[in-house]
Amino acid sequence: MANVVLENVYKTYPGKVTAVRDVNLEIHDQEFMVLVGPSGCGKSTTLRMIAGLEEISGGSIYIDGRKINDVPPKDRDIAMVFQNYALYPHMSVHQNMAFGLKLRKYPKPEIATRVDEAAEILGIQDYLQRKPKALSGGQRQRVAVGRAIVRKPKAFLFDEPLSNLDAKMRVQMRMEISKLHNRLAATMIYVTHDQVEAMTMGDRIVVMKDGIIQQVAPPMEIYRRPANRFVAGFIGSPSMNFFEGRLDSRDGGLFFQEEHFALQLPAAAATRLASRAGQPIVFGIRPEDLSDSAAPDSEDPILQARLEVKEPMGAEVFLYLNTGKTPFIARVDGHKPYAIGEEVPLRVNLEKSHFFDSESGEVLT
Ligand code: ADP
Repeated sequence: MANVVLENVYKTYPGKVTAVRDVNLEIHDQEFMVLVGPSGCGKSTTLRMIAGLEEISGGSIYIDGRKINDVPPKDRDIAMVFQNYALYPHMSVHQNMAFGLKLRKYPKPEIATRVDEAAEILGIQDYLQRKPKALSGGQRQRVAVGRAIVRKPKAFLFDEPLSNLDAKMRVQMRMEISKLHNRLAATMIYVTHDQVEAMTMGDRIVVMKDGIIQQVAPPMEIYRRPANRFVAGFIGSPSMNFFEGRLDSRDGGLFFQEEHFALQLPAAAATRLASRAGQPIVFGIRPEDLSDSAAPDSEDPILQARLEVKEPMGAEVFLYLNTGKTPFIARVDGHKPYAIGEEVPLRVNLEKSHFFDSESGEVLT
């Protein structure tokens, strides 16, 4: 298997669209790395440069220490799985899976063994003789993955492989690809715009925006310690709430002051942010760090806000509230019979709060 290194990689398309800017990234051997970000952020371009399907405008890419900038795709020893499966419609599943090996002139018995092995891993033995049109979306996607597996490549590249599947099948294939990663112990690079896929599948996640890497870290670190407001808002569902306000030093404490409420910062945060007293700042808190249940010994401050909409999700309820200036969401497990328009008191877990520079969006630590 392989490690993949990108060094100062740029991509400029004709017409001067800079799709990828100065990307530096090391994907370790056997790692499952997810590139995530909104549409147009440059993740597919990055993947396609690794695959050799796009030329690199600047910088270098290495696979196992070998610079591959000018190596043609077929000689890079990597396999790519596409969103649209890219199966040959006139060939059977077996032929589709065998095709790449046949082109490379593998002996017949070797091809048969590899196709059987892959079919067994993916549970598609029963439809090896079918044509793609006689398969469901999930089955086609398995065949596309099978075609990659039989090659035993150094690395697997996935470009939004699940986006054509329905929600239930996406969840199932997500698990199957994760299991496959464990079983094959392969290096996998996976592109998605879906932050849930990124969180659940990645050993590490690369969050991109406008062609620039925003943060590279394991999922829970990205979730707990986002590097900036963009990452904080992109990862997590419902998204983190942001309140624009300023820091006020008074009564021997430091307060976050919004137009309609003030929260006193815990001592540690107050010390950290003391130098910003009097300045504008953005306060971020995730919906799950607001609570409507009692905690008698808690010193958490209370934020009162007007309830606009409630969404019962079954096990929990999403409350859509408004401070008078800022709309926000609380994710609570209590099922209290609030009326729309009611002032709801919410306990704010300030230990889980985030503060961002109001100009640059960088996290303040
Ligand atoms: P993502 O995969 O994150 O949606 P892409 O890598 O596909 O983003 O695209 C990044 C940027 O490059 C976008 O602005 C897109 O319009 C542009 N782009 C992608 N492919 C081409 C191309 N072949 N020619 C010109 N611009 C392109």
